[in-house]
Amino acid sequence: MKPTDIEIPEHLRPADARFGAGPSKVRPEAMAALFERARDYMGTSHRQAPVRSVVARLRGGLAQLFSLPDGYEVLLGNGGTTVLWDAIAFGLIERWSQHYVFGEFSGRFAAAVANADHLSEPEIVSSEPGTHPVQVPSERADLYALTHNETSTGVAMPVRRVTRRGLVAVDATSAAAGLQVDPAEFDFYYFAPQKGLASDGGLWLALASPAAIERIESLAASDRYIPASIDLKIALDNSRRDQTYNTPALATILLAAEQVDWINANGGLEWAAARCEESSSTLYDWAEARPLANPFVERIEQRSPVVVTIDFDASIDSSHITSALRANGIVDTEPYRKLGRNQIRVAVYPAVDPDDVAALTGCLDFVLERLT
Ligand SMILES: *Cc1c(COP(=O)(O)O)cnc(C)c1O
Repeated sequence: MKPTDIEIPEHLRPADARFGAGPSKVRPEAMAALFERARDYMGTSHRQAPVRSVVARLRGGLAQLFSLPDGYEVLLGNGGTTVLWDAIAFGLIERWSQHYVFGEFSGRFAAAVANADHLSEPEIVSSEPGTHPVQVPSERADLYALTHNETSTGVAMPVRRVTRRGLVAVDATSAAAGLQVDPAEFDFYYFAPQKGLASDGGLWLALASPAAIERIESLAASDRYIPASIDLKIALDNSRRDQTYNTPALATILLAAEQVDWINANGGLEWAAARCEESSSTLYDWAEARPLANPFVERIEQRSPVVVTIDFDASIDSSHITSALRANGIVDTEPYRKLGRNQIRVAVYPAVDPDDVAALTGCLDFVLERLT
């Protein structure tokens, strides 16, 4: 049977069938809240109170969500995580960084640093896709680059300091709001809002410790050239006034604030992490119980609770599964393209309803029966 001819009965389908890793599901309630502000927020100045109050709401909401200790600050700026990597290379790394590379995103940041002439060659500690490296103290690193969740492979790595020396900067683009984290273990926990925060792209957000703020200030005062658009000191000064250096996407900010408030109102990070745990367990258990499927990540403690990767036996082509799902309106279960495996990837961020994940497993069974 042609995959796209498979018709999944309506009653089996998830109510909301968006399972993409990013951009990810935006809750319709947040879209409705945005529409409510169609006249007094959208299309108004980001230097005035209506917008600045929403930025303040987002910054305060994040401080609450992550139980930030005194002295930690929430920074934001334009360009998403990829641009923030360049900002970190200019404004947070003194000279030597150490990177844990275990997939596409952690690798891209390391490559960005390796290409920066003003920095020394970074130390790279890598491991095979589907695993994470073991942390090792460095002789000289002034910044450790961790990735809380490697979105390309579905591996989660704990956030902890291995030494007192050096800042700990964590790419939490897909982890933020879905995984528990202790602020004492990081100095710079950063993300973009189109994943766990169920908003749209184009913005970066960072939770900065006093040590990170001190580093930003000292590098800004040094004679290093830093382009203004990625200058973290300029971002810090603007963030403190609930603004950004240049014009942000206002919808992105409001949708992110809506999501953070929604999570805080439901029980905060603990609640959100438990919800992701429930959703991901449904999928891992499903894969373990099916002869043709297996979780890609072998070690249970390394399996991501927000991005689930499932391998399929060679007798079945995973692209037939994803195209059958897509033909039925169930979207973005395709694997990370460069990983090149016969697998599906399902994101189960806090916005995704665990019931929809359970429905997805029913749909997978339905499709598999017809493809084999
Ligand atoms: C998506 C993602 C990025 C890239 O984010 P952009 O906002 O698109 O630049 C970086 N790191 C991780 C872990 C991601 O999941």
